[in-house]
Amino acid sequence: MSTQKILELMRPFWGDASTVGSYVGGQFIAGYGQAIEVRNAHDDTVLLTYADADEALVAQADAAARSAQQRWWAMTAQARGRVMYQIGVEIRNNADSLAQIESASANKPIRDARVEVMKVAEMFEYYAGWADKLHGEVIPVPTTHLNYVTYEPLGTVLQITPWNAPIFTCGWQIAPAIAAGNAVILKPSELTPLSSLAVGVLVERAGVPKGLVNVIAGYGHTIGQSFIAKSDIRKVVFVGSPATGRHIAVAAAQRCIPAVLELGGKSANIVFEDADLDFALRGAQAAIFAGAGQSCVSGSRLLVQESIFEKFTQALAAAATNFKIGDPSDPETQIGPINNPKQYAHVKGMLEGALADGARLIGAESVPVPDVPGYYINPTVLAGSNEMSCAQEEIFGPVVVAIPFKDEEEAIRIANDSRFGLAGGVWTHDGARGHRVAKQVRAGTFWINGYKTIHVSSPFGGYGESGYGRSSGIDALREYSEVKSVWVETAAKPAASFGYGANLE
Ligand code: NAD
Repeated sequence: MSTQKILELMRPFWGDASTVGSYVGGQFIAGYGQAIEVRNAHDDTVLLTYADADEALVAQADAAARSAQQRWWAMTAQARGRVMYQIGVEIRNNADSLAQIESASANKPIRDARVEVMKVAEMFEYYAGWADKLHGEVIPVPTTHLNYVTYEPLGTVLQITPWNAPIFTCGWQIAPAIAAGNAVILKPSELTPLSSLAVGVLVERAGVPKGLVNVIAGYGHTIGQSFIAKSDIRKVVFVGSPATGRHIAVAAAQRCIPAVLELGGKSANIVFEDADLDFALRGAQAAIFAGAGQSCVSGSRLLVQESIFEKFTQALAAAATNFKIGDPSDPETQIGPINNPKQYAHVKGMLEGALADGARLIGAESVPVPDVPGYYINPTVLAGSNEMSCAQEEIFGPVVVAIPFKDEEEAIRIANDSRFGLAGGVWTHDGARGHRVAKQVRAGTFWINGYKTIHVSSPFGGYGESGYGRSSGIDALREYSEVKSVWVETAAKPAASFGYGANLE
């Protein structure tokens, strides 16, 4: 896509602004920092360039968010719910442009982008329903008190998101945050800010106060860090790599600000010999090759029972040769390029390292990738062992490491031999075994005879180095709330107490 075409697509959202800027308090504000490139990964050209956001924005975004949050919280819960539902309508009405913007600027196959945009609409619709149902509770305390609990917004929350699913992650985090009454400062990846900026505009068009959702276009180590260090945020929600997550948690802890971390994974997809193997094969393909493997929940470790290991892994490598791989804007494309040059170099380096470590390449034929200077990696099946670095480190590309196992006990042991714990899956005809494995694998999301289905209504998050805290479902509303316990004396002649409820007499 040309620069001119992407600017045309953005025009309905940002009017005549001629460059990418941040969206703060209902206005586009150009940055003045270092130049940042948004690249077309199909042919290695520059789609557009913009300047990093500068620190002047921190105070401006703080003030805009604070005032908008007060106005938002002053509305009735029912009115907030209606506005949130309208955000879903705006997203559905603009679905085609949003999908094209996402596909071009995040280098994502257009068919995937279309699905993800509809899911974003669903996220706002789902949380619209929660806006007037996040009510408190009455606790039956053993004293003469009425004790009630209320959920209050935190105030302003900072959300920092990655490049692999920008619009999806933007909806996934903004919707619960505003449903719980908060204002948001969202910093998407500097590589992919466009779709989040467009969502910021649509949220406001639906009727939220100006400044309730502010989108900052710029680097994490510059403007992202400034927001953590200097703004009036009450929580940081970070989605991204474990290394950056650790850094952010430390910076937040220095200010005593809580954090939610949604980090990487090295999830085990376990195939038993008694599974429906055709079904499992399709599941294993989707688990690793969809999105060119640039998905945090990818089934990047494929654990296959010894008796079917060769047959199953050869079939997976053969099936991969049928994919349509190429230009993300082509509606037939199933697998696009790697998002950016840095990630491309990482995936290539991991592949070379795996082969040097003794991993075996399965299947002789490779998928034809387009003859262009873009960042394409062949879908690759490797046979290896769980100790290898390709089985322990996140590759975040279309590369799966297949590992044989003897029995159920060994499969569970290998699955848990990872510092991550984001997701996992098992394929078996034995229902009881499916539940046993699901119970014992340490992961935040687990599928029995399936892979990769997630929904805004169900909680999502990790164990171990995959992070802490939960997004989506009712758990996300709790993450975005303060909990208050109120004690009301109801006795006609209350007994004064000293200490934690012990009467003075
Ligand atoms: P990243 O950690 O490099 O960047 C993520 C975000 O952090 C970007 O917005 C970036 O600008 C910002 N950032 C970078 N350095 C920063 C700093 N010092 N201070 C503040 N912000 C900073 O991750 P990425 O390469 O964009 O994304 C890929 C990673 O994201 C993978 O590890 C993947 O597994 C993970 N991911 C996790 C989930 C999940 O829900 N668990 C979902 C999608 C992606």
